[in-house]
Amino acid sequence: MADCLFCGIAAKEIPARVAYEDEAVLAFHDINPQAPVHLQVIPKRHIARVSELTSETIGLMGKLVLTANRLAGELKIAEPGYRLVVNCNAGAGQSVYHLHLHLLGGRPMRWPPG
Ligand code: 5GP
Ligand code: ZN
Repeated sequence: MADCLFCGIAAKEIPARVAYEDEAVLAFHDINPQAPVHLQVIPKRHIARVSELTSETIGLMGKLVLTANRLAGELKIAEPGYRLVVNCNAGAGQSVYHLHLHLLGGRPMRWPPG
């Protein structure tokens, strides 16, 4: 989608530090990391927010989670733990309107989140 930052990263028009890629999914390091490990895991297909997933596209969410789980293992944050976050809309902190799963780890995580 034109003017979408993460579509630009998926198309390699905007540089990013890519951690994993396949035909449907891209994972890359966040530009402003909030933890020692902070990746974005995105579908290459443009979906603006998690609330727009449908029965046709929901399988993509599973691919994002499986990718994040695998990367957590590879990056040695699976133990003691990692956090997967999806912000939906501005009130929840969404700033980029292309579906993305935050993978955070490498430090203790507090609850509730801010
Ligand atoms: P949101 O606030 O929408 O849940 O998360 C958007 C995330 O994208 C933020 O963590 C932000 O740091 C990250 N981000 C924004 N612009 C860029 C960019 O140009 N490159 C990368 N790698 N991450 C970005
Ligand atoms: Zn997009």
